[in-house]
Amino acid sequence: MKFAIHTYGCQMNVRDSEAVEALMVAAGHEPAANEGEAELVIINSCTVRQKAEEKALGKAGNMIAAGKTVGLMGCAVKRMGEDVFRRLPKLDFAVAPRMFGAIPRIVASLKDGGERLFLGDDNTLPAGMDAHPTVRRSGTFAEVQSYVTVLLGCDNRCSYCIVPDVRGHEYSRPAKEIVAEVKCLARRGVKEVCLLGQSVLRYGMRNDAWPGTDVSRAEAFTRLLRELNEIDGLERIRFTSAHPAGCTGELAAVYRDCPKVCRHLHLPVQSGSDRVLREMGRGYTREEYLAAVRRLRELDAEFALTTDVIVGYPGESDEDFEATRSLMDEAGFDNAFIFKYSPRPGTRSAALEDDVSKAEKERRDQVLLADQERRGLERNSRLVGTVREVMLEGPSKRNPERWSGRDGGNRIVVWDSAGDERIGDLRRVRITEAHAQTLIGTLEPSPRLRPTCTSPLTK
Ligand code: SAH
Ligand code: SF4
Repeated sequence: MKFAIHTYGCQMNVRDSEAVEALMVAAGHEPAANEGEAELVIINSCTVRQKAEEKALGKAGNMIAAGKTVGLMGCAVKRMGEDVFRRLPKLDFAVAPRMFGAIPRIVASLKDGGERLFLGDDNTLPAGMDAHPTVRRSGTFAEVQSYVTVLLGCDNRCSYCIVPDVRGHEYSRPAKEIVAEVKCLARRGVKEVCLLGQSVLRYGMRNDAWPGTDVSRAEAFTRLLRELNEIDGLERIRFTSAHPAGCTGELAAVYRDCPKVCRHLHLPVQSGSDRVLREMGRGYTREEYLAAVRRLRELDAEFALTTDVIVGYPGESDEDFEATRSLMDEAGFDNAFIFKYSPRPGTRSAALEDDVSKAEKERRDQVLLADQERRGLERNSRLVGTVREVMLEGPSKRNPERWSGRDGGNRIVVWDSAGDERIGDLRRVRITEAHAQTLIGTLEPSPRLRPTCTSPLTK
């Protein structure tokens, strides 16, 4: 059967979709060249904000109307339960996040005239599921970059967040399994991996990820990074998302010792107001957050930090909002994702009045975006004249004569093609021009000096 997969939401969904694609191909199905050609469309949904959920359900509705066989997977399925069939009566199947491995069997039963099916989970399943293969697409960056889910679920229970309800308890995959998987990816030409977990620095805290060894739970993640740093052929290691509690001296030591571990951290702050942070149950104060930032920037002034912020949390006053603005300046974020608060059913904050008006949320969103535009430009301007080591991703979207890649800090770098570049190459680019979201440069004639993404800046 020709199939297509549409993915909404975070990188973890992207990874799950890749696994489903590989399982479907192994079961004899064929990826459709485009959506029109697909007989079966699988939609991987997100529910973190209402709008995200609406998009996925709307897409499913459109595909059903277009006469496709349609399946829904992912977080919205878990949140809605069997009600999803009330919303989409003609949906063919719905599968909760930890059950996607069953999709090829469900498709087989549908082909045999089986009834539509709902497959929930009780959020206690361990994993194993993430050791799934990936279909490699040649000629794209996906050929050399891979997501690797290391920590499933979340035990943090932030007041506004539905993720723990839909993704279940934390479970850390065994470290040995992850190391073996990354070695296998590296042998197949993968140069960059991104380790995924909702609060990935909690890897190995809830269950023992290193059974039969003397690795303590507190060192489970940093030890994993050190092991991965030794893998031949692998050039870059990233991970996301992080929490300041995990920004320990040992993590800083890993950044110092392991050249393949990229000096970029996505460290969602959510708010700069201590009062709001307490209400959210984030588990840190403004000062503790900034202390984590200082620790990383002391190591490397160009250490790249990105963040998530929520505007319009219930009761967020002008003063709270201004505290967020000033924190963002103090932290000097390289990039920031701003979200308007959206109450999610069953979360603690859903019981509070959503009392910041839509217009005010919009205003705060725009203010933070404008601040970030200015800040991004300031931060990027400091790099003009320096040389960055960049991994080549492909032709630039705006101008195919140019190549585009990322430096270790995940900054987008664009340069005029020399004609001999290949996807996945590490090249040295001298930065000549800075924009808020992009750096422009020229290729350095010299070959790269050493296999790192974090070479110190050279003037
Ligand atoms: N596990 C990650 C976040 C996953 S959700 C972490 O804690 O770092 C991604 C982002 O969506 C969050 O960082 C938050 O900024 C935003 N978000 C989550 N729930 C939200 C809600 N109810 N309304 C608005 N934004 C939300
Ligand atoms: Fe949600 Fe908080 Fe867990 Fe992130 S850490 S997934 S925001 S509950």
